Amino acid sequence: MPQQAAPTTPLIDLRSDTVTQPTDAMRRAMFAAPLGDDVLGDDPSVIALEKQVAELLGKPAALFTPSGTMANQLAIRCHTQPGDEVLAHEDSHIIHYETGAPAALSGVMINPLRSERGFFTEHDLRAAVRAPGIHSPASRLVVIENTHNRGGGSVWPVDQLAGVCKTAHELGLSRHLDGARLWNACAATGLSPREIAGHFDTVSVCFSKGLGAPVGSALCGEKDLIDRARRFRKMFGGGMRQSGLLAAAAGHALTHHRERLREDHEHAQILADAVGRSASLRLALPRETNMVFFDVMNPALDAAAFCAALLKHHAIAALPMGTHRVRLVTHLHISAADARRAAEAITRLAGE
Ligand SMILES: *Cc1c(COP(=O)(O)O)cnc(C)c1O
Repeated sequence: MPQQAAPTTPLIDLRSDTVTQPTDAMRRAMFAAPLGDDVLGDDPSVIALEKQVAELLGKPAALFTPSGTMANQLAIRCHTQPGDEVLAHEDSHIIHYETGAPAALSGVMINPLRSERGFFTEHDLRAAVRAPGIHSPASRLVVIENTHNRGGGSVWPVDQLAGVCKTAHELGLSRHLDGARLWNACAATGLSPREIAGHFDTVSVCFSKGLGAPVGSALCGEKDLIDRARRFRKMFGGGMRQSGLLAAAAGHALTHHRERLREDHEHAQILADAVGRSASLRLALPRETNMVFFDVMNPALDAAAFCAALLKHHAIAALPMGTHRVRLVTHLHISAADARRAAEAITRLAGE
């Protein structure tokens, strides 16, 4: 927990949807989980989770991983050879937040596509793909992130996504979905997970974001690819033993916490509305799911100072994302009343 000056006021933590604690019911599911040794392939709770998530996404197989980063990197490793090129939006998680892993673990380079809010078009993709030749890296894989984190929790319009994936296939590229927040994209659009996942060869999803599990992600795809990914997971140090304990939490989250993501989106709208009404703040990106990005307009107050004051005086934690940009994320532990209290405090602080 971050340091706060007024410990009597309960902390409202809006830094990320990763800060959630397992609920009592989730802990009971973990306690009751039958366990085995997943590296030896006989942990029944992991096997059950992999089956559950594969079915939900309409893929033949799934692999439980310790993190979303590992799930994405396993996909990149399986789809590429060293020297290949991956096409992804310039604001992608795989570029900004995965420690250079595509270069370190797969020996690939990334061709970043430039456009607004994490989206790109069939035209952008065609323009970026390289013609085969002795001089060029081979364009091999396209990665789409949905919802897009640095794009503001933005949701890909499904027709655009389908068009880009169809074009990618025509161009001979594999297609990976970084679906860390696919559940939020589904809650926002009413589409089922498999309706979105169906456009991709592989999909990674997180259980430890909005769904509220303590640890874990999954990579889903064809059986052959997932068998190879299982081997690479061991190579990357991600083979886990009695991981059914964690898989049980993830399974509980999948069953019980997907429907309620709509509430997170409503609570984010309370925050976005307050930002919109304040003359001292500006909404930096449209609010589409559980994220709100805003700029502090006072040039003398940078985002780090704003967040420090918010924590000190109002017991609200937010994340500075640039000199003047702040990010707020709603989740399982943020009620409508919390969102209203945070909205009040943020606009008051900005106006001072
Ligand atoms: C959080 C996140 C991931 C995975 O992050 P880990 O912390 O490694 O689990 C991947 N992609 C996106 C878009 C994310 O927001």
